[in-house]
Amino acid sequence: MQNNTKPWAVVTGTSSGIGAEFAKHLAIKGYNLVLVARRKDRLQDLAQILERQFNSQSLLVDLDLTTTGAVDELLRQIKTQDIQPQILINNAGVGSYQDFSVVSFAELNKMMTLNMTVLVELTHKLLPVLKKQSQSYVMNVASIAAFQPIPRFATYAATKSFVSFFTQALRYELKDSSVSVTTLYPGVTLTEFATRMGKDFTPFLKQISQTPEQVAKVALKKMFAQKRSCTPGFMNRLNAMLMNMIPQAIQIRLAGWAMRRFF
Ligand code: NAP
Repeated sequence: MQNNTKPWAVVTGTSSGIGAEFAKHLAIKGYNLVLVARRKDRLQDLAQILERQFNSQSLLVDLDLTTTGAVDELLRQIKTQDIQPQILINNAGVGSYQDFSVVSFAELNKMMTLNMTVLVELTHKLLPVLKKQSQSYVMNVASIAAFQPIPRFATYAATKSFVSFFTQALRYELKDSSVSVTTLYPGVTLTEFATRMGKDFTPFLKQISQTPEQVAKVALKKMFAQKRSCTPGFMNRLNAMLMNMIPQAIQIRLAGWAMRRFF
């Protein structure tokens, strides 16, 4: 597999959206990619683009990361190819937008497993390899949904708060190591995220949204600059700042109203 000497990056959720853009822009920056998602055809198409346009090699790992032993299988394939990653981006994630009492526990459980357990397991198991590099990077994808409790997005927003708190604490623990840790808080981004939940972005959301390319480019810039966090887009940063200033009881009412009105 290792025909060139480029460093390697592992990015989960690369078959669409922000993850696919991470892969393209890392290839532009001279990385080979470990591409992870369930849809093999999409990964194959992306791998071809990365090879043709950027001379970047890919290891394709088509896995449902929520199945038992999936992270170990991913690590086994990385090890078999003698790949020593320099970058880990935990990007794969799904949402669930419904009243809590209506959504099935099976759906919630799968989301919690992907958004939290898989992210922690992969970070934990890849950390020894990342620590061996003279400089390495972990970026975990949270969301602006992490900033406040959100009715109808109750469990999803809570998973992203988990990602935010976990990643910030991990950064502190690793501050004297060679591993730099960054939390990414995207706002509304035009990907398959909403359609997976059976929703469509309303005209208002489309207006305030960003493209996955915009998000990935600024996020990688911040990651390589070893920044603590990245919230792409002025409106999203303003939202984060305002939410910090408002009492939580009001935050919840505002979030509940906004979700009903705009989503
Ligand atoms: P997306 O286009 O739906 O991408 C999600 C990626 O995760 C896909 O590649 C999908 O691939 C993969 N994935 C889903 N379930 C998986 C599973 N069980 N096993 C392996 N891979 C799985 O959405 P996106 O917006 O780019 O989402 C990327 C991240 O951004 C997520 O963590 C999301 O929470 C976060 N985010 C998105 C927005 C937004 O508005 N779009 C806002 C804030 C945060 P397969 O289906 O092929 O497996």
